[in-house]
Amino acid sequence: MEAVIGLEIHVQMTSLKTKLFCRCPADYRGAPPNTHVCPVCLGLPGALPVVNREAVKKAVMLALALNCRHIAEKVVFSRKHYFYPDLPKNYQITQFKGGGGAPIAEDGYLELLQGGGVRRVRIRRINVEEDPGRLVYTEGDITSSPEVLIDYNRSGIALLEIVTEPDLRSPKEARLFLEKLRAIVEYLDIADLSLEGSMRVDANISLPGGARVEVKNIGSVKEVEKALSYEVVRQRALLSRGAAIGRETRHWDPLRGVTRPLRVKEEEEDYRYFPDPDLPPIPLPRELIDSAVAMLPELPDARMRRFVEEHGLSRELAYALAMDKRLADFYEETLKRFWAPRLVAVMLAVDYLGFLEKNRLRMGEDRLNPDLLAKLARLVEEKVITPEQGKHLLFRVAREGVDPVEIVEREGLKALRSEEELRRIVERVVEANPKAVADAARNPKAVNFLVGRVMRETRGRAEPRLVRRLVVEELRRRGVEVGE
Ligand SMILES: [Zn+2]
Repeated sequence: MEAVIGLEIHVQMTSLKTKLFCRCPADYRGAPPNTHVCPVCLGLPGALPVVNREAVKKAVMLALALNCRHIAEKVVFSRKHYFYPDLPKNYQITQFKGGGGAPIAEDGYLELLQGGGVRRVRIRRINVEEDPGRLVYTEGDITSSPEVLIDYNRSGIALLEIVTEPDLRSPKEARLFLEKLRAIVEYLDIADLSLEGSMRVDANISLPGGARVEVKNIGSVKEVEKALSYEVVRQRALLSRGAAIGRETRHWDPLRGVTRPLRVKEEEEDYRYFPDPDLPPIPLPRELIDSAVAMLPELPDARMRRFVEEHGLSRELAYALAMDKRLADFYEETLKRFWAPRLVAVMLAVDYLGFLEKNRLRMGEDRLNPDLLAKLARLVEEKVITPEQGKHLLFRVAREGVDPVEIVEREGLKALRSEEELRRIVERVVEANPKAVADAARNPKAVNFLVGRVMRETRGRAEPRLVRRLVVEELRRRGVEVGE
């Protein structure tokens, strides 16, 4: 049973210095509550908004990157009215199609690479709008907290709202879409989406025979996949019992991993949209579009293709790197110092990411840098150390920031290349472990045990595959037949 999924994504433009309509600093994280405020973003009478030109330019860049066929000729802002404590003016300045208003861009698409094919997900529109204030629930969440605090530092922060057509067919596809959108936003230097609350997603989902259910305010890409998967199971169970699914809005509780009913959905006319008289329509200057075009960087898909075609990476490796701008930059910086694309790609996308995840670190919180990684890659590529040693050394370099060349020199870690020398160690180990030798014909674990002993004798400086071959040869020489 295929799901029909559409997404509405809010991205804070965290790279801007100021809010959307005033000069308050945009970086509100960590600031004491209600200190980054002024008459404009507090909605005091008589205060007049002035639009942030840089925000409009970033929106145009995103529209170009998302292949929007229609970019507005005039920037028009509308008021969306609702009464809620996070909104000091009782309306939000946003964009709206109709009644004289228009989104900044419409009719785009984003392509997903899916099992060899390409899936096109249509973008309905992109809006520029202001973030409401932040509600702080002192205990639990919106459904359980006994009191609510309000912080207007977030009020008026520039947001991009990206709305897709209901073109996604599974929770996984929704995740892939968001991963790519996130990458594009970071490539365009619109936002650092690792910041908490910088990307928030509303998802709507329906199954055949059921109405559309909206899940509000999901905080991360992974959570979107989880929330949608939960909804698929919940809705399928209801439908299979013959129960009806009505149109409703639900809230995702990431701690319990469930969605819960929130409120009855408003219809659009409830918001009484009309163009904001404080912000007369501004023609979008030609030179602003030109400079947005000129500033468009290489985007994730193009970079991935380049990694495959020019660096000889597999599609999986190229994807893992290209979808993470900082990782891809790190990779290319390393290659400038030492050219070994496949080796460096594996070291970063597999070993290094594994290290970060295991230690719950984010990039930059460890001590690896392109200089050190290039030295390490050279040691492996020139066979001074084995790939296995390289991996262990990478963990150490990332933890301690030490120079791998110096460590190898100082601690005598050069790989044991001489088969002669290795053979002598193998003979010694086999001689010293008669029980394992006796077991080896029946029990493959006994062979592993001997290989492990030899690896320990060499302090990990030998190639495990070579050691295994020599151990098997030595056993055969002694009349013990073992499988390879
Ligand atoms: Zn302000």
